[in-house]
Amino acid sequence: MDLSKLIRPNILALAPYSCARDEFKGVALINVDANENPYNNGLNRYPDPRQLKVKELLAPLKGVRPEQIFLGNGSDEAIDLVYRVFCRPGVDNVVAPAPTYGMYQVCAEINDVEYRAVPMVAESFALDVEAMAAKVDACTKVVWLCSPNNPSGNAYPLAEIESLLSRFSEQIVVVDEAYIDFSSIPSVVPMLERYPNLIVLQTFSKAWGHAAMRLGIAMASKEIIGYFNNVKYPYNVNELTQQQAGRVLNDVEKKNRQVAEILAQRDILRDLLLSLPCVDRIYPSDANFLLVRVKDAPSTYHYLADKGIITRSRHKVQLCFNCLRITVGTPAENAEIYNALKDF
Ligand SMILES: *Cc1c(COP(=O)(O)O)cnc(C)c1O
Repeated sequence: MDLSKLIRPNILALAPYSCARDEFKGVALINVDANENPYNNGLNRYPDPRQLKVKELLAPLKGVRPEQIFLGNGSDEAIDLVYRVFCRPGVDNVVAPAPTYGMYQVCAEINDVEYRAVPMVAESFALDVEAMAAKVDACTKVVWLCSPNNPSGNAYPLAEIESLLSRFSEQIVVVDEAYIDFSSIPSVVPMLERYPNLIVLQTFSKAWGHAAMRLGIAMASKEIIGYFNNVKYPYNVNELTQQQAGRVLNDVEKKNRQVAEILAQRDILRDLLLSLPCVDRIYPSDANFLLVRVKDAPSTYHYLADKGIITRSRHKVQLCFNCLRITVGTPAENAEIYNALKDF
């Protein structure tokens, strides 16, 4: 893979904005370089544009170097950056299995990049690799893969992802691991050493319990992360988020305890729902949600919504006819969902 052929020419040539905090490294006695208000209130200074403290805590947890990490305003920033760094508007295209996370397509459309959706195998939600390969051409810059996949819940075997990485070695392969902490299949992060075309996305929004903090992670080669850094807004992760991320990363145990509890509840919720006559099928899940096929999704959705229980209808999504996506809640919430459906 020749990275310089994948990067958009204007991004390859870009002289990035150099902010005040980038230009001086060292110990400052007086900071009069950024036109900030000098009176300390904890937030009067611009934050670290490279979020080094957060990256130094995160890197050993993930087994990568800090230079291999990009942090953004949610994974959604990283998804958008993939388009802005690699895809020429009106020229290039991306390939993705369907159904999957909707932001890949929305960001493609915003960036005027053709989005080529390839149906997965019905019911198993397995990848149709041959059909994907048939959609790849000289202008295909990115292949998207979400594992565990939203909304189907299944994770792809590591060997299958690895064969995709070699087969699409002239493209960027993004593996979105938003749900990886809930998965029985381990992360592809160790493959970064062998596959320079791999970008892995993770997030603080799910297992880490910090959706409101808005912090997404991209891991890739130092070279790819360098281009992300050149294109991102200089101060894309605010100071409050950086401070809170530091606290969160110092309590990995809390995250692990909650993941274990959610996994136990996932089994309990599955068994409860399967005992109901309105439930037809529950797909295997490696995530913190269940894709549940019911007899009639619209009426089930409205019945639950009237009781204040909001599920995500995937009824109109490809291969998800009559399906609701239900996030695993607390034990009390899961019991309430069951009790409500029992009377439906
Ligand atoms: C929830 C989710 C994310 C997380 O997005 P953030 O912007 O980090 O909150 C990313 N990818 C998938 C597939 C998701 O379901």
